[in-house]
Amino acid sequence: MRPLIAGNWKMNGLTEDSANLARAIRSGLGDLAPEVLICPPATQLAAVAAILDGSGILAGGQDCHTKRHGAHTGEISAAMLRDAGARYVILGHSERRAEQGETDALVAAKVEAAVAARLIPIVCVGESAADREAGRQEAVVGRHLAGSLGAEFKGVVAYEPIWAIGTGRVPTSADIAAMHAFIRTELVRAQPAGAETRILYGGSVKPGNAAEILALPEVGGALVGGASLVAEDFLAIIRAA
Ligand code: PEP
Repeated sequence: MRPLIAGNWKMNGLTEDSANLARAIRSGLGDLAPEVLICPPATQLAAVAAILDGSGILAGGQDCHTKRHGAHTGEISAAMLRDAGARYVILGHSERRAEQGETDALVAAKVEAAVAARLIPIVCVGESAADREAGRQEAVVGRHLAGSLGAEFKGVVAYEPIWAIGTGRVPTSADIAAMHAFIRTELVRAQPAGAETRILYGGSVKPGNAAEILALPEVGGALVGGASLVAEDFLAIIRAA
């Protein structure tokens, strides 16, 4: 399966910054093999998708609502993301689980909404530093998988240990491989498409560590935050895939 390298721009950049970044990534990509995805802020999605059009690089959202439309002030539906050019949507990112109190059940409802709108969900799972120190990482990730994916999940799972996000701290290769093996086992056990589901690693992926991480068994790509905001760094990660 082709690896997927996904950039999560989070709440960064105004229209001109994002347009320049998208153009720089597009022009630097050449005919590199991995599937590449950029998830800009929602207000810039249509403009970024237009810049990427025809390049093979896809655009995605960072979240969506559970409902298709209605009285939900300030929210964005999956259909709206799709209409603006998105093909994927990140769901259940740990920042949303922490800042917006998103639960596994809410994430599962968003997965359903995303699929109904023909978006591919990327569901984030991962343990906190305290969970890892207590040896609870598999219990936490297992709970996220059981609660967030729904019954017949057709999407992507991103393993993102919370303590590795934006910190420069990365689990050992052995720990990443062990967690990805655990996730694969859980997916195969519980999901009809579990054997084919891509599992990304996310958390302080940089040009200097990407090749080693992306070569690990069951690592099907990367979800990249900070390094996706610098065209050369993001391109270097894509080249490492
Ligand atoms: C993320 O927030 O999904 C992420 C992986 O961030 P960073 O690469 O900056 O750690």
